[in-house]
Amino acid sequence: MKNLIFSKMGNRRSELIRPLVLLKKPFPCMHCERSYKNKSSLNRHVQYECGKEKQFSCPICQKRLIQKSTLHKHMLAVHGI
Ligand SMILES: [Zn+2]
Ligand SMILES: [Zn+2]
Repeated sequence: MKNLIFSKMGNRRSELIRPLVLLKKPFPCMHCERSYKNKSSLNRHVQYECGKEKQFSCPICQKRLIQKSTLHKHMLAVHGI
C-alpha cells in the first residue's frame, strides 16, 4: 500500500515537474527567479544585473542606492527632503 501511494505521488510529481523543466532554462539564478539558457548568460546576469534592478535611484540626482532606507537618508542628507 505504501509503495503504491509513493509511486503515485512520484508519478504525479514528475508529470508536474517535467514540463516546467522543459520550459525553464537550465541555469537558474540563485538570487532571483530568473533563469538562463547558458552559464555565461547566468554569470553575466549575476555579475552585472542581479540585485541591481532592485536598486533605488534618487529622483533628483539619479544616484543609485541599494535600499529604500538608504534613499530616504540620502534625500534627507543631500537634498534636505
Ligand atoms: Zn538573479
Ligand atoms: Zn539625490
